[in-house]
Amino acid sequence: MNNKNCVHECLAATEFGQVVICKECGRVNLLLQNMSLHFSVEAFIGVANTLNEASGKIMATAQKATRPPPLKIVKH
Ligand SMILES: [Zn+2]
Repeated sequence: MNNKNCVHECLAATEFGQVVICKECGRVNLLLQNMSLHFSVEAFIGVANTLNEASGKIMATAQKATRPPPLKIVKH
């Protein structure tokens, strides 16, 4: 799978991982710690959209959980 003519360009790098694209063959590499996943551009965008959708739902749920409880009516 390794192409000797690959010319890698880093698209993103965080503490969680790195995304590199090859300017020659167009392959996208997702590097996560000791794991490396290879995608076509179309597949990578599809996976990225899937992850975005999932993380969006998690964050929406988390926001609900951290919302302060409603005010209670106190009777005197
Ligand atoms: Zn390449």
